[in-house]
Amino acid sequence: MLSSNITRDPGGALRFAGQSVPELARLYGTPLYLMDEDRIRFNCRLYLDAFRSAFGDAALPLYAGKACAFKQMYRIMAEEGMGVDAVSRGEIYTALKAGFPAERIWFHGDGKTDEDICYALDSGVGFFVVDGFEELEALNREAGARGVRQKILLRVTPGIDPHTYEAVNTGRVDVKFGVPIGTGQAYDFVRAALACSHIELCGLHCHVGSMVFDESVFEDTADVMFAFMRELKDGLGYVTGTLDLGGGYGTRYTEADKQADIPGRIAFLAAHMRALAAKTGLPMPFILMEPGRSIVADAGLTVYTVSAVKRIEGFKSHVIVDGGMTDNPRYCLYRAHYTVLHAEREAGETAVFDLAGRCCESGDILQPAVTLPADIKRGDLVAVCTTGAYNYSMASNYNRLGRPPVVMLRGGERFVAVRREGLDELCALDE
Ligand SMILES: *Cc1c(COP(=O)(O)O)cnc(C)c1O
Repeated sequence: MLSSNITRDPGGALRFAGQSVPELARLYGTPLYLMDEDRIRFNCRLYLDAFRSAFGDAALPLYAGKACAFKQMYRIMAEEGMGVDAVSRGEIYTALKAGFPAERIWFHGDGKTDEDICYALDSGVGFFVVDGFEELEALNREAGARGVRQKILLRVTPGIDPHTYEAVNTGRVDVKFGVPIGTGQAYDFVRAALACSHIELCGLHCHVGSMVFDESVFEDTADVMFAFMRELKDGLGYVTGTLDLGGGYGTRYTEADKQADIPGRIAFLAAHMRALAAKTGLPMPFILMEPGRSIVADAGLTVYTVSAVKRIEGFKSHVIVDGGMTDNPRYCLYRAHYTVLHAEREAGETAVFDLAGRCCESGDILQPAVTLPADIKRGDLVAVCTTGAYNYSMASNYNRLGRPPVVMLRGGERFVAVRREGLDELCALDE
């Protein structure tokens, strides 16, 4: 199977995190997001242990909450000792409501409003990751008005192409995030931050993209960053205390994808950075990384009930389910690949179908050309694997569909972490 938390029992029924998927579907209904909490914690510890052995105490992994954010996720992150990267008031609010410590929140985003800045200052978030000059000025003003000195990192753009999909490629010079090093603007950005009396510049942040499998992306990024750090020391006398290398390690969505050896990659990256520190004569900075997908993706599985099967002789056939682009827009957005399985039995004779959603868009496809039992029919259960990242967090109410519940699976037990959005909730804001 794709991931060790997906198995089948002898009768062919799918099991996820050791629990029967058909039974969970009967209990909670479909569409249904299942999340394997043990896997989430395992993935956190993979990073925490790898960081500890590679960097000692001078490093911290931050969970990128945008991958999947609800209160239970933040409780897990608090218990595991992770930091958190938040990109909106909503994510900060959710984290604080869950009891996550404000000082371990890094506040990201390229479009922070004055309201966002004030909210985060008043909440006491640990760090702002400042994305541009206007934000720097607004933050300095608001921090000054409160008589505080806010800790920040500056987001800079190293100009690295991670060779991943266009929509998740964020390191090139001309992306909308951060301030580019290559044009000299990042140097001026650092100088401007050092001149702000209500801001404490703690270091630099960069994030070059998502779904990174290319072996040398982070090492190439570190090369650019250390050269820039040396330039800052020579020109401004500024020694970078913290270096945040962003998120981005890839996850296995299909059998064809590689499995990223994350602890191995981190050990290699740490050795590379120590060599860079020695070569540039700089102290090794405190290291942050911001994994999102690689913490939660393989902890998720979505279950649907088949509503219809349309077979057209000589043309494509469709299996239509009771969810779609509203609970998983990733094929529509990125042409993302997924593994799709029948949840009740192993396929004997198979056929190829497009797995389609129920939305009024012909583009509402969850995955094209999937192999399923040839006799699949209305009422059967289908599972889409590896849906823990960027599914629940990207879900919408298009066509006035309620979002599915999230059921957590932990140590053989199960509990609802997010309730199903019902009809009353859909009208809750309507006057
Ligand atoms: C999206 C994002 C991440 C997380 O990326 P993953 O690919 O989910 O690991 C981390 N940092 C920043 C700034 C991001 O935009």
